[in-house]
Amino acid sequence: MYDVGITFEGPKCIVDFGRGKFVLDGPDRGQERGQTYDFAVYALIAVGLAKGIGFRFPYPISTEVQTRVRENLFVWDAWRKKHLRSTAFEFSQVAAPRPRAESGGIIALSGGIDSTYGALIAKHQLGITDALLIAGADYSDAGQAGFVDLRRRVQAIADLIGLRLHVLETDIRSLGINWTYLHPMVLAACLHYAGGGLKHGVFSSDSTFWIDLTSTSSANYPGFIETLSTDQFPLSHVGSNATRVDKLKFLDEMLPQVFDHMSVCWKDTATGGNCGTCEKCRRTQLCMVSAGLDPRRMFPNYQPLAEIFDATPLPRKRDKILTQGQYFTKSLRHLPIGPERDAAIRMLTRIQDATGGHFMQGATPDFGPIPVGSVARLLDDKSGIISPVIRG
Ligand SMILES: [Zn+2]
Repeated sequence: MYDVGITFEGPKCIVDFGRGKFVLDGPDRGQERGQTYDFAVYALIAVGLAKGIGFRFPYPISTEVQTRVRENLFVWDAWRKKHLRSTAFEFSQVAAPRPRAESGGIIALSGGIDSTYGALIAKHQLGITDALLIAGADYSDAGQAGFVDLRRRVQAIADLIGLRLHVLETDIRSLGINWTYLHPMVLAACLHYAGGGLKHGVFSSDSTFWIDLTSTSSANYPGFIETLSTDQFPLSHVGSNATRVDKLKFLDEMLPQVFDHMSVCWKDTATGGNCGTCEKCRRTQLCMVSAGLDPRRMFPNYQPLAEIFDATPLPRKRDKILTQGQYFTKSLRHLPIGPERDAAIRMLTRIQDATGGHFMQGATPDFGPIPVGSVARLLDDKSGIISPVIRG
């Protein structure tokens, strides 16, 4: 067990645990700090699982945090993920409960399709007011040229949606955090830290409920977020009920100018923006074609996909192949008849061959995507079908 020490230098918080330290730097929203240290606990779950160490935590936390931590670690224990180790916490202080803020909310916004869609939905349905761009997630630090460029684009997106944008920089990834599994804890830590004085925080899903069921590639699940919430600052999850094609159509209908600023690619961190040729850029282009949108709106150097798919080798790892299969299967539900559809079918055949047919059995249930319908219906929806998962 390691003793945790926490110090503040203005908006910067330094969390030291004897064997290492990390910072959460900014933003300075003029919010109250220091009544609870819940944010640091969530970040330390990620550190503990990565390093296999436990912590004695001497700062006040919300009453329910001990239970949340137990629930969170229970899930990790049940999943028995490779590369993750076990951790433990000893807490010694509970803060007196405070009333929850009455308004305002903050969403993590990276400027891709999922978080842009999430921000727009959360602004209208949940009344969020602020957005948080995290430096140290996909780019190593806020000074990297690519991040400076990203920040400019995300600012433009936040302005279009009508959210105040803040930037928080963290170096926590340098501790060897497995980002795929552990990023929800870091995101939660950043939202708890930056969202003081606001009513709640919001995550955007990056996959649908169906993909979560069939292709477990991350821990960003709506259910998991419960373990990262407190009564005073609950977290919600938006977007699991829309496919990426639905999201693109929705954004085109609601906020078409946003396509000038969104980026999905982390390949070229020197300049930021979309390279247009990596696997993620190509997947997004396919979604745009499926949504009936011109890919050149986000990818000025777009080359017709039909020619490219045939020449593209499958990923080497099986889970990556399965993920790609999910995208191509989904795309067939939307792709208009034409060369892209033919090429997608050829790609699916290759994926089926490479996975011994397993993939197609699991991935072609006979139900279609949830229709997005008109924008007005989506925003007014009270049925619970479109509404995000909300706690608190
Ligand atoms: Zn790219």
